[in-house]
Amino acid sequence: MTTLASRRSIALLAARSLAAGIVATTLVSARAGDDDAAAAAATTRWRELLDAPLEAVVRRDLGWITSVRDDAIAELADEAARTRIAELVAQQRERPVLEVDVPVDRTVAYEGYRPGNEATGLAAVHAPGADLKRPYHVWRSGRWSVLTATDGRREQLFVAAVFRAVAILRVRYPAIHEALFGEPRAPAAQLARIRARAPDKAVHFINRTVHHAVILDGGFDAIAKSRYELGSRRAADPAREGEADAALAGVDIFDNVAVTWVNRAGIEGWRAENIYGEGPPLRAWLRYLRDGLVETLVHEGLHHLLRRDKNVRELFWAIVETVPATFGGKTAKTCEEAFVANVSAGIFEEAGGISKEVTGYYRRLFRSQHVARLGLDAERPSDRAIALRAILERRTERGAETLEDLLSFDPTD
Ligand SMILES: [Zn+2]
Repeated sequence: MTTLASRRSIALLAARSLAAGIVATTLVSARAGDDDAAAAAATTRWRELLDAPLEAVVRRDLGWITSVRDDAIAELADEAARTRIAELVAQQRERPVLEVDVPVDRTVAYEGYRPGNEATGLAAVHAPGADLKRPYHVWRSGRWSVLTATDGRREQLFVAAVFRAVAILRVRYPAIHEALFGEPRAPAAQLARIRARAPDKAVHFINRTVHHAVILDGGFDAIAKSRYELGSRRAADPAREGEADAALAGVDIFDNVAVTWVNRAGIEGWRAENIYGEGPPLRAWLRYLRDGLVETLVHEGLHHLLRRDKNVRELFWAIVETVPATFGGKTAKTCEEAFVANVSAGIFEEAGGISKEVTGYYRRLFRSQHVARLGLDAERPSDRAIALRAILERRTERGAETLEDLLSFDPTD
């Protein structure tokens, strides 16, 4: 593995210093003979699917996105097929996520072309912005929706890729899946989490995440971005499960939607190549769909978690409220990115499965961009950096021996 990693970094160095024409040759020769063959076979299958006849695509049943394991679910009803899909993912536990073959979940249904805020899962959003009121092609299964601004082979492959990523997270990373995407907690259970940490704290609201939406669109620079959309404020309803607790009297409950935007032009172009290196057309995009997208869902899921649980954990309140109020939006954004990139990279460095290109990319961003911009590693830290460190050290949950410890939290706590 060391050889592979060093060959990759040599290739990256070459890519930075050489003209584009020579770079392609360098990368190809650096990859020859390593374990790219299996990964290439996995992405080749998906590239070939893009030749599907249009009449199959316009049926909007994702039936053209076939898998080599389709026979295993052919005779099963939808819910039984879903259970079988989880077993198929579990059987491939030892394979890199990039190579895991997952039949399309037939519970994913096309809801139509409609304003995003009228989609079943997003109707709870209290004050939808213009970007949610625009029409989208809406696909849904349970507590997940995928919205695409346009519709075609690439968009539908993206839809399948999101549900594949969720299935992989559920089976291969169950603790992370439960923490970020699990069933919404009953308000009394969320209140109990707050009480466990701060018995006497005055509690004014309870956040629950009732739906997750992924929107494929453009108009921004990053690979992805997110917004935690609040639902309407409501009072506890004793008739509802987990809401009869007298301690919930006077506490506002918010049923919220975690929205993630994925940058279409970015993942089909230079953003994906930043991660995977240059190569034949579609190579980086297909790898991203099968591998990097899993990290993206966790990464944006961590941003959502910070907001959902901001009144549960002191550190989260510091990240999303105290730091912005003290230092302004720019520093706050970098600080939050440092936490999220560090935690997400750490999850996959520890658990494995995701490409080293992906974890390496976020590890580098953490070290060379976020930490550097915050000035936390400076020999002579600025007053701002000293003040920021003091705020974070007071709330740190993992000690502050290193910057990796200081800018970290355990999402499963
Ligand atoms: Zn982020």
